[in-house]
Amino acid sequence: MAGTMTFDDLKSRVAEGSIDTVLVCFVDMQGRLTGKRFHAVNFVETSFKETHCCNYLLATDLEMATPDGYASTSWQAGYGDYVMAPDLDTIRPIPWLEGTAMVLCDVLDHHTHEPVPHSPRAILKKQIKRLEELGFEAKMATELEFFLFEKSFDDIRKGGFRDLTPISGYNEDYHILQTTKEEDVMRPVRNHLFAAGLPIENTKGEAAAGQEELNIRYSPALDCADYHSIAKHAIKEIAWQNGRAATFLPKWDMNQSGSSSHVHQSLWKDGEAAFFDKTAQHGMSTLMQHYMAGLIKYAPDYTYFLAPYVNSYKRFAKGTFAPTKTVWSVDNRTAGFRLCGENTKSIRVECRIGGSDLNPYLAQAVMLAAGIKGIEDALALAPATTGDVYEDAKATDIPQTLRAATETLRGSAFLRDALGEDVVDHYTRAAEWEQEEFDRVVTDWEIARGFERA
Ligand code: ADP
Repeated sequence: MAGTMTFDDLKSRVAEGSIDTVLVCFVDMQGRLTGKRFHAVNFVETSFKETHCCNYLLATDLEMATPDGYASTSWQAGYGDYVMAPDLDTIRPIPWLEGTAMVLCDVLDHHTHEPVPHSPRAILKKQIKRLEELGFEAKMATELEFFLFEKSFDDIRKGGFRDLTPISGYNEDYHILQTTKEEDVMRPVRNHLFAAGLPIENTKGEAAAGQEELNIRYSPALDCADYHSIAKHAIKEIAWQNGRAATFLPKWDMNQSGSSSHVHQSLWKDGEAAFFDKTAQHGMSTLMQHYMAGLIKYAPDYTYFLAPYVNSYKRFAKGTFAPTKTVWSVDNRTAGFRLCGENTKSIRVECRIGGSDLNPYLAQAVMLAAGIKGIEDALALAPATTGDVYEDAKATDIPQTLRAATETLRGSAFLRDALGEDVVDHYTRAAEWEQEEFDRVVTDWEIARGFERA
């Protein structure tokens, strides 16, 4: 169970007056917590059963626009309601907010009460179920990288996003001294999330000035995605409480490394590590080889779900630890997929393609789907690559732009089969809209380059 409070615990805490607010949330297409703040008495008396929201919330963008072209909703269809059905297994205290608890919801059709197919939690649950039918459980860990800034979100926005001074003056990779100076934000991040029931492993400085990483212990896939969304939200809120800003934009400075969200993956059967075979090369079971072959083969199809914005593709650059090729390697950080924990029960594959802006439900779902396809088709795994994979001309590139990733998504028979036609059409439209919005904009770069000299 992902939460740390039963519904009865919550009722007792509400009766004694220590909890007065319940955040009732679901995760939107962008991976954000979306929802309402309930008076706790109302929640435990009635709203624990269900509440409602406008259905544009799963057909919008970061700006809350109402783009055309979605089959699920539109002005023409009148933008009706969805049901938000609290998953009472996810109730937890939110220690960084006074008197507050949170519950995550599944999003259901208003009339049929069936899961909305393009809701991120439903998409992940469907792939988890397919894997269960094959007799396996997936355990995953998503690393969260981000940058912390000296000023607050509000000050930075009012300054037109110009005064972006990172909290540190130098590359703080694994630094203890510099990260001590950031404990006003990072210590409450670790401790509050731990008290909210997230199995926090550690935080560390990352490979740029002001860059941080949070690691959460690997967990069943749905819990992992819930943890990721809650942790990302908490980092922003706790930064805000301390007058700072945290960004998960993958590339805010072209001269520094970007932020990733590497995804560690392993399959389990009856509590045993199904990826481990001590007699096999590297300790990789045949099952793991098939799973990885699927991950690698279909990476171009699902790259959009690991890199959903125009900015996401700025991260894929040579010599930055962000990969450009869909190949695997043994403990080599230049490849898209890295074998970790070789010859041990901790053996796992780390996908290094995803940026810090990925939606963890969608990213995990499409990778599970690719792994399942690899298992079903008994795909053979090519030999590991070695050396500097950036320079390997034979290796397949991952799509280099949002436009290219949109086309591989649109044309993916594999994803249409695994997720459903409607789901692929829905997210293809989201990808197109993002590109259309970008294409309208005249950037600072164009003006500076061409104003006088063009
Ligand atoms: P790195 O050096 O890449 O930071 P870590 O040893 O810190 O590697 O592990 C990274 C993540 O991998 C952690 O979140 C950890 O919980 C997760 N992990 C460890 N074992 C497994 C496993 N068997 N399956 C999935 N994730 C795992």
